[in-house]
Amino acid sequence: MKVTFLGTGTSFGIPIPGCRCRVCGSTKSKNRRLRPAVLVSTGGKNILIDTPPELRIQLVENFVDRIDAILFTHCHADHVYGLDDIRVFSMVKRMPVYGSPNTLNEIKRIFPYIFIRTQQGGGKPKLKLTGVHGRFRFSGITIIPLPVFHGKRSVFGFRIGAFAYIPDCSAIPAATFVLLRDLDVLALDGLRKEPHPTHFSLDQAIEAARRIGARQTFLTHISHNLDHYSTNAALPAGVQLAYDRLHVTIRQTREPR
Ligand SMILES: [Zn+2]
Ligand SMILES: [Zn+2]
Ligand SMILES: [Zn+2]
Repeated sequence: MKVTFLGTGTSFGIPIPGCRCRVCGSTKSKNRRLRPAVLVSTGGKNILIDTPPELRIQLVENFVDRIDAILFTHCHADHVYGLDDIRVFSMVKRMPVYGSPNTLNEIKRIFPYIFIRTQQGGGKPKLKLTGVHGRFRFSGITIIPLPVFHGKRSVFGFRIGAFAYIPDCSAIPAATFVLLRDLDVLALDGLRKEPHPTHFSLDQAIEAARRIGARQTFLTHISHNLDHYSTNAALPAGVQLAYDRLHVTIRQTREPR
């Protein structure tokens, strides 16, 4: 199983237009971050988690030639506004899309043109929405939604095999920690050094990563407060910042019973 980080930036993207800070002004590639998404390739299928605004660029840059299903963590703009870019992959067959019923209702509300009969032609994504509460199967692959708090909202991360992706998170409920046992790789919200009402700070992410105990944790949804190189040098063993176009091979496929 292979995971590709398509984007590792927070909602603004890095560089932020007009910002003159050191990270936004950096010419080093690992300080440039598109909005957050990952592609999980397993069992011969490409599963995309979230459709950020720069999705077309991310798919082209990473040579993604097929998407078989989409999982949505929640309906914030930085995670959904590239949905139209999946049109090319839903011409022949409707794209299976999974998320909480609440998230899917919000997607119907902000993309009304997709769901109403309009002009002829293939100009719209064709989607098959399925609301999920707990674990489900797609094409023989078990997918486990991971409810976490994102401020006051409950949103999803997802676990597939020994990989878990939790991009927007300010607290993890006890029942979700149980679903995070025996992970090989964890991708976790690590926004910035200072506390934030809806995201983990670096210290909170490190503490959660320690408690979860994955072999390797990659922090994502990263703001312009964190320089990739100096931050990584100071992180504890087993925890690093992710970066755009990072590929990770997952060693094992265990999942909790
Ligand atoms: Zn900046
Ligand atoms: Zn969010
Ligand atoms: Zn976000």
